[in-house]
Parts: sequence; C-alpha cells; structure tokens
Amino acid sequence: MREGTAIRAALADATDDRIFFDLDGIAAQYAKLISELPGIQVRFAMKACPVDEVLDCLARRGAGFDAASPREIEQAIRTGVPLDRIHYGNTIKSDENIADAYRMGIRDFATDSVEDVAAIARLAPGARVFCRLATSGDGALWGLSQKFGCSADDAVRVLEAARAAGLTPSGLSVHVGSQQMTSEAWQSALDELADLVAVLNERGILLDTVNLGGGLPALGCLDKHGRPLDPPLDKIFAVLREGMQRLGEQSASPLEFLMEPGRHLVADHGAIRARVSRLSARRQRDGERQHWLYLSCGKFNGLYEMDELQYRLEFPGHAGGRYVPAVIAGPTCDSDDAYDYEAGLVQVPEGAASGDPVWVHSCGAYAVGYTTQGFNGFDPLPYTCIGGSK
Ligand SMILES: *Cc1c(COP(=O)(O)O)cnc(C)c1O
Repeated sequence: MREGTAIRAALADATDDRIFFDLDGIAAQYAKLISELPGIQVRFAMKACPVDEVLDCLARRGAGFDAASPREIEQAIRTGVPLDRIHYGNTIKSDENIADAYRMGIRDFATDSVEDVAAIARLAPGARVFCRLATSGDGALWGLSQKFGCSADDAVRVLEAARAAGLTPSGLSVHVGSQQMTSEAWQSALDELADLVAVLNERGILLDTVNLGGGLPALGCLDKHGRPLDPPLDKIFAVLREGMQRLGEQSASPLEFLMEPGRHLVADHGAIRARVSRLSARRQRDGERQHWLYLSCGKFNGLYEMDELQYRLEFPGHAGGRYVPAVIAGPTCDSDDAYDYEAGLVQVPEGAASGDPVWVHSCGAYAVGYTTQGFNGFDPLPYTCIGGSK
C-alpha cells in the first residue's frame, strides 16, 4: 500500500464519485526528490495535475512550473511563485502564444527549431532559450520521441541562431519519455548532453542550465498485463546524481540543474472513489463467456491512461468472497474506454453489484487534465484535496 491512511479514510467516507489528492503525500514526494538529487530545482509539469491546491502546495515548498501555454502560465502565476520560476516548456508555440507569455513576464522558453527561435527573437526580444534534445524514448511507457526535440547537430544550429538573434542561449533539455523504466535511458541522455555541452563550449556558447525533463516513474500502477511496474528508482537517482556531477565539472560555465517531473510527484497520491456500474458475463463472438466489469468512471473522466496501464482496484466490502477474471471498462459508448484486455484480465468480486464502491489507486497523474467535458453525458469527477495545511 502506497497511499497514506488519510486518503484511504477519504475514500471510505466518500458518498459520491470523486478524485482525491493527498497534498501531504505530494509534499513528501517532492521532499524526497529534492533530497535524492541535491541541488535540483523542480519545475512541476503542470499538465500532470493542473489543480490549484496541488500547485500551491508545491509552490510553497520551492517548486516552480513547466507551463505549456499562456493559460497554464496564468495558472502558475496565480500561485505567487516568482516569474523566473516559470518557464514556457512547450516547443510548440504560435506567434500569439509567445507574445502573450512575454507580456505576462515569462523570459525562459524551450525551443527545438530555428523557426521557433526566429519567432521568439521577434516577439520576446532578449529572452532566454533552452534547446530540447530528442531522445529515443526507449524504456518508457510513452516515448514522446518523434514530436519533440532535435538532433545534437541541430541543437548547435538552434542555439547559435538564438545568440545571433540577440537571445540568450541558456541551456539544454531532454525528456527521456514518460514513465521511464530504465536507468540506461537517463545514462545515454546524460552522455549526449555532456558531449553537446563540450561542443557548445568550444563554440563559445556558455550555458547556465541543464534541464533533465520529466519521465521519473510512478511506483503504484500496474502494467497492462497487471504486473507491478517496479522501476529501479534508486538506480535512476544514482545515475542522475553522477551525471549531474560530471556535467557540472566538465562545463566551462557553472550549471544549474532543473527537472520537470509530472507523474512522479502526483500519480501515487491521487485516488478515485468510483462505483460498479455493472458486472456482466456475455458470450463473446469467439463463443467464450467473458466477465466485464463496467465502472462509473473511465478513460474520459479520470482513467485516461487505461490503454497502457492497469490501475490497482480495490473493492471494499468484498474482501472475503470469490473473485473472477474480468475486463475492466468505463461507462461510455466508446470501445477505447477499457483496459487492454488482450494483455490481461483483472480479478473482480463475483458478487459485485451495481452501486458498490470501487477504489482506484495511483491515478493522480494525467487524470484531471485529460477529462472531457462530459462525453456521453458522464461528468468530470469533482475533486477534493486532503491535508496540506502547512
Ligand atoms: C509532460 C512533460 C513533462 C512531464 O512528464 P512526466 O513523464 O509526467 O514526468 C515534463 N516536461 C515536458 C516538456 C513535458 O511535456
């Protein structure tokens, strides 16, 4: 069990469907990260949990924010963090987006192309830019490999273009893929960064920041086969510490290190109280009888990642009875609103009745932001934050 007792008590007391965030758990996770990686500055990736109370909780403890749009920047500013703790971390920005961010006081921009650099130079004169390096995404549940980042050669071109355009070429960033499960991915990213810092230094580009991105894993979810994920977190931290030290020593200019964790800070500190909609046993087209357990929430209101993950389910009140293997699915008329049942079935109580409470654990990341505006008439879940008084 990874949740604290507070969130379990909240789940037990709930009288409606609801997502709970445990602010003390999130604060503890943040403190642990800071202690594992001394000197790291956190820029929380807001999309993982764009909830004011969660952002306030992290801001009070010294975190800043990785924002991806003017609207996210606005929400980050509302926490009261100094503007230099908010950066525009999305490489994809329209002219209007850049101008809006600049007007709001943002001076740090991610980039990965000379076209974007030219727009930043025009609309955010004098800003600082950091160039995102592409990674393979290997070893991650979600690779993010194609859409973002550039090659090392291009990064040199991009940062030289920035310097020529009067911008400050301030740093480099990577993202090794979301829910990265291997320390090797970090190792190769750090090796590439080290090589690139050396090349840039030779060309007289002195960086002040290396941003190691997101990707740090959550611990409490299951893979789509129902197996614990069990990422080698201690080894990942060791690789990061060693890589930061080496980069710092090798760089011709002093470096600050940032990370943009999203999932890692919030996933295991959010849980949903849902209900059983129906347990049915239908004869399938292949002639087999298959149990399906439909929940009151699903892909469109809280369980967006159910295609790649299985969330741990708990059926309070059914601890003793007989369990049967079932497909887990949400309540909508969309066939994607279900676990990948070819990968693995889930044990559910044979006696599960419509209305019985179900607890969905470790679903605090990418739940709120991915919720639709009532697809098929199923409302977004209300949320409650618990704890976090200090
Ligand atoms: C989504 C995102 C993150 C957070 O990723 P996690 O895998 O949740 O840690 C960090 N940085 C950027 C630029 C992102 O787009």
